[in-house]
Amino acid sequence: MRGDPLTRTGRMKDRRKLYVKSYGCQMNAYDSHRMADLLAPEGYVETGVPEGADLVILNTCHIREKAAEKVYSELGRLRVMKQEAARDGRRITVAVAGCVAQAEGAEIIRRAPVVDLVVGPQSYHRLPELLAREARRESGIVETAFPVEDKFGFLALPSKAATRARGVTAFVTVQEGCDKFCTFCVVPYTRGVEVSRPVGKILDEVQNLADAGVREITLIGQNVNAYHGEGPGGVWSLGRLLRRVAEIPGIVRLRYSTSHPCDVDDDLIAAHRDLPQLSPQLHLPVQSGSDRILDAMNRRHTRADYLRTIDRLRAARPDLALTSDFIVGFPGETEDDFSDTLSLVNDVGYSDSFSFKYSQRPGTPGATMTEQVPEEVKSERLARLQAAIKRHQAAFNARCVGCDFDVLMEKRGRDAGQLTGRSPYLQPVQVMAPQDLIGRMVSVTITGTIANSLFGVLADTPRIAAESRVAQSFAAVGA
Ligand code: SAM
Ligand code: SF4
Repeated sequence: MRGDPLTRTGRMKDRRKLYVKSYGCQMNAYDSHRMADLLAPEGYVETGVPEGADLVILNTCHIREKAAEKVYSELGRLRVMKQEAARDGRRITVAVAGCVAQAEGAEIIRRAPVVDLVVGPQSYHRLPELLAREARRESGIVETAFPVEDKFGFLALPSKAATRARGVTAFVTVQEGCDKFCTFCVVPYTRGVEVSRPVGKILDEVQNLADAGVREITLIGQNVNAYHGEGPGGVWSLGRLLRRVAEIPGIVRLRYSTSHPCDVDDDLIAAHRDLPQLSPQLHLPVQSGSDRILDAMNRRHTRADYLRTIDRLRAARPDLALTSDFIVGFPGETEDDFSDTLSLVNDVGYSDSFSFKYSQRPGTPGATMTEQVPEEVKSERLARLQAAIKRHQAAFNARCVGCDFDVLMEKRGRDAGQLTGRSPYLQPVQVMAPQDLIGRMVSVTITGTIANSLFGVLADTPRIAAESRVAQSFAAVGA
């Protein structure tokens, strides 16, 4: 299609500006890129600001009430912008995509008439066709079915130029949807049932990214370690997929997110033991340290199960650092339950974590549970939890000082002559280094830490890391 003077929809190409704003998770960030890739052959060029855009897409998140409400504030600003543009004879099309689109559908247009079209996360491959309908002045377009066709089959791979502009790290969706039905979570309703992409398609996408200069790949999915995609010889697990992706030349670092503790299998643990490219940082959300609350959340494991899984992972990869998500104030959570969460944070010693106040989501079992926890109790518990998480993060960062890390240089830093990279543990690292090291894995001696960042100096001649020095110099840090 690229280079064709006519678009798929039969209109002459004219260059139009596209602004995509992404809310929420990595899956949305990935989808936003794919929307831009899909619309590039239609003549849309991405811009970083809404001003001057012909098409604005809000790729929304419905996971907590606050995330969904942010979208309506943004739509208020867009209404003013659209009216001003109309006075200058310019037309702006506003689309709402993502999980709010899926959950609220036509209600969005009723509440915010500035919106021209609504498209769910499983239907955005239909954007060119929906935009053509909108251009013919069809109003109130809502596409939120879970179509039988696989959207990935309709999405073009990004051009080398588009990939390069996005940097040296990239997400690749390998799995979507979730069958776990945790009682607080909207994902099974907004993203649908668990589906895994075939191995061959994933490898093509990673190869395309590697050819364009991407050096770090994060395989993503709502429940990524439930991956069970068709591959040569049958169904592949995530562990097997990681092994194969690690063989692609140019990929020096691999991550995966987000995992469910129940789906950590032997293959995955062995991948942590065997693959030097696989990051020693693992996000393994637990949500609560109390068995009573884990049960009410339908998490399907106990605190002891979770700790056993961590022991097995650490036996395979002694320098493994863990991060988690926590929810405070789930219905029925008592002070004792919350203490169990605090003690779990101390037992595991996370390198960092996300933590949230429980948010009632319409349609989920948690929303109608009695014993909802008052807002002020949630706020007070969240503050205590975040203080504990910060203490462990600071201790972890302090233990990094003096270590040699393989740092993937990503972009220019804030100060002149400085580059920003990421440590194997996902910490931003600031280093004085020449610009031609962007995209290279270099050895850095960590000299200091402030807030969430580390500082360091180049340790020796830049090199593409074939094997990590981290395991030798850092065995004591992860545990
Ligand atoms: N699949 C992952 C797992 O099993 O942990 C989580 C994916 S969810 C998109 C990301 C995080 O949002 C969850 O881990 C949870 O901590 C948080 N979250 C989800 N629903 C929530 C709710 N109703 N209130 C507060 N936080 C919520
Ligand atoms: Fe939501 Fe994760 Fe539970 Fe699935 S496993 S329902 S995505 S929290």
